[in-house]
Amino acid sequence: MPDKDYDLVVIGAGSGGVRASRFAAANHGKRIAVIENRRVGGTCVMRGCVPKKLLVYGAHFADDFENARGYGWDATRPAFDWTLLIDAKNRELQRLEDVYHGLLKSSNVDEITGTGRIADTHTVEVDGKTYTCDYILVATGGYPATPDIPGIEHVINSDHALDLEELPKHIVIVGGGYIAVEFAGIFSAVGVETHLMFRADNILRGFDNDIRVMLRDELEKKGINLHAKTQITAITKTSDGYRLQLDTGETMDTGLVMYATGRRPNSAGIGLEEVGIEINAKGAVVVDDTSKTAVNNIYAIGDLTNRINLTPVALEEGMAVVETIFGARPTAVDYTNVASAVFSQPPVGSVGLSEEEARKNHDVDIYRSSFKPMKHTLSGSDERAMMKLIVDKKTDVVLGCHMVGADSPEIIQGFAVALKCGATKAQFDATIGIHPTAAEEFVTMRTPVSA
Ligand code: NDP
Repeated sequence: MPDKDYDLVVIGAGSGGVRASRFAAANHGKRIAVIENRRVGGTCVMRGCVPKKLLVYGAHFADDFENARGYGWDATRPAFDWTLLIDAKNRELQRLEDVYHGLLKSSNVDEITGTGRIADTHTVEVDGKTYTCDYILVATGGYPATPDIPGIEHVINSDHALDLEELPKHIVIVGGGYIAVEFAGIFSAVGVETHLMFRADNILRGFDNDIRVMLRDELEKKGINLHAKTQITAITKTSDGYRLQLDTGETMDTGLVMYATGRRPNSAGIGLEEVGIEINAKGAVVVDDTSKTAVNNIYAIGDLTNRINLTPVALEEGMAVVETIFGARPTAVDYTNVASAVFSQPPVGSVGLSEEEARKNHDVDIYRSSFKPMKHTLSGSDERAMMKLIVDKKTDVVLGCHMVGADSPEIIQGFAVALKCGATKAQFDATIGIHPTAAEEFVTMRTPVSA
């Protein structure tokens, strides 16, 4: 008889926690329990990537109806029903949650509902009941963070935005990151007067500067009102919405305020520090290369550790932890060339270094192409696309590959493989393009734009 209830107890059934649980149970035959206090599937499946992308698909029809006219369709834009979209999205989330429950069951993972708290290094407590285990994996994710300003209780965050009962006529979205930009695209496309307000001089800090400038221009062309270098200092309720006091001295009235000003790790109240686990100033659990915390048998992954906060990274970290503890093979995730996308309209796809990052350590050639996609020669849309390659002059290795334009997340996923393999510009050039596509531009750019 084993002396513990489980080999591994996982706290948090989001993407990382579920993947680790299933992998440990199915591939290593271990006894696993996973604890969750909200819906199985976590942020990505229930409150993030998945519902967001469904709304992005929904919003995109606005452009499609417009574009169809240039192709001979006698199309007037049909009426849009937000409630119908939200209901359909919720049905899909329910289906996915059922799938997740089914997957855990078929892998023989025990699901425990409630809030897990580490009682000691080998015991997790859930609502007064304790479970002993050899290892603990903490994968509790993060939550939307908002600044402490007067009236902040009036604002919504991305969780609420995904379940709005009715659309406002006018919305102010605060922040210039992934979430703010993506929701601005959704709300604007479905007819809400959308204002994007951010404290920096441009959106998407950390992305390649040409990409940021291009996307900013495209968002403006779509009718999104951008307010750079602007912060809200106070929010008051009015009879039909909210009045915002801005640090520019002006005020603005709006029907709804959404904050997307970053996320913080869910590290409080689960007994981490009490057992000696280190938490940094941003609230993230400090781990080593194998995701091990300061306590030998306790690991942490995903947004809780604030490394690269993306679902596929959390999945990889979860599998690496299982390999480390049950495969007896210490496994670290390789964080180089992790591609990501912003599902704005048009979207952004990006892998590798931005020009600004690359120039810090490399002598580089820049290849850039900006053009009107073929689809829009007839559609009448003025949407443009841009692709950019950053190449190390000495080694010819492609250091960065970035795109703004339709299908860029799909296109960049393929080029991410090339960058992971260390492809050179000569190898890009030796690749024959697929014609006519936008993607072929990545293998036909021959003249650097600047040295
Ligand atoms: P981000 O970190 O991407 O952006 C946060 C934004 O809020 C920045 O523009 C930042 O400004 C601004 N900000 C931060 N604090 C304040 C403040 N006190 N007042 C005003 N503005 C502030 O966070 P998001 O919330 O957009 O997304 C969280 C994370 O979720 C992302 O980092 C990403 O990892 C993940 N995500 C990924 C997606 C994808 O892959 N498509 C989609 C959605 C989320 P500044 O730049 O000046 O610091």
